[in-house]
Amino acid sequence: MKEKKFAIIGKPLSHSLSPIMHNYWFDKYKIKARYDLMEINDEDIKKVVDKIKKKELDGINVTLPYKQKIIQYLGKLVNDAKETHSVNTVYLAKNGELVGDNTDVFGMQAAYLSKINFNKLNSSALVLGAGGVAPSIIYALTLSNFSKISISNRTYEKSIFLKKKFPLINIIKWDEYNSPKLNYSLVINATSLGMKNGNKFKNPINNINDESIYIDTIYNPLETEMIKHLKNKNIKTFNGLDMLIYQGQKSFYIWNKVNPEIDDELINLLKDKIK
Ligand code: NAP
Repeated sequence: MKEKKFAIIGKPLSHSLSPIMHNYWFDKYKIKARYDLMEINDEDIKKVVDKIKKKELDGINVTLPYKQKIIQYLGKLVNDAKETHSVNTVYLAKNGELVGDNTDVFGMQAAYLSKINFNKLNSSALVLGAGGVAPSIIYALTLSNFSKISISNRTYEKSIFLKKKFPLINIIKWDEYNSPKLNYSLVINATSLGMKNGNKFKNPINNINDESIYIDTIYNPLETEMIKHLKNKNIKTFNGLDMLIYQGQKSFYIWNKVNPEIDDELINLLKDKIK
């Protein structure tokens, strides 16, 4: 049988752990397949999509900055991709149609939202960032019945754009997210601030109460400066590794119809690569 080929497209990609995770599962379940990094420019998206149409590639994950840009090349969006207009998983349907799905919403829910017992009386969340992953996070929060969702982003116009899609959200100016009067049960960092070798937050969060929870979507490093800062204040924090694993698990299922186990060997393998 021919070896199946999968890849992740994005730029930059050197930080991505997806090949390690998918290749681990291919080995474990004895599936003859390989998953590679494909660091590409905008003008190459169509070429990659054509490879899927010609069955030279069996599926792709999509990461920043192409989660929206890929949509123009797809035949249809399904499931959470339809709700968010953010695509991270692509495959060819039996009828030859190119399909875009989204597993980030599931990643956010399965990794954190379904496991944390939020105070339903104060189900308010602040999302920092309005980039490619933000719609998935906002949509996951609405599915988990968060009644008050605020977003704050450096570029204000992008917040307005998100509000058109999710009218219930409240916009907070970037220089005001640390205002003392704000009070959230959950704060999620959906910006790239804190990534290894990248820019850091100039204003670490201070207006968070003792029972609040902080989720950083970043997994490299496992402890961002913000996580360290909040741990010192005894705030419960999570990093982005579990989200990465759960979104990958769902993509793997979509492509291979096998629900791969998240075992300690995989988690240790990924953590080792981050060190
Ligand atoms: P993106 O589309 O490139 O968006 C980047 C976001 O970061 C934007 O909101 C941007 O604000 C903000 N930003 C960048 N530099 C900034 C700076 N110097 N000051 C203030 N804000 C800044 O990326 P994305 O796809 O949404 O990904 C965002 C983060 O989520 C990344 O760290 C990524 O690793 C993480 N992520 C994790 C998972 C997971 O499975 N754990 C999945 C998806 C994404 P502007 O709009 O003002 O540029």
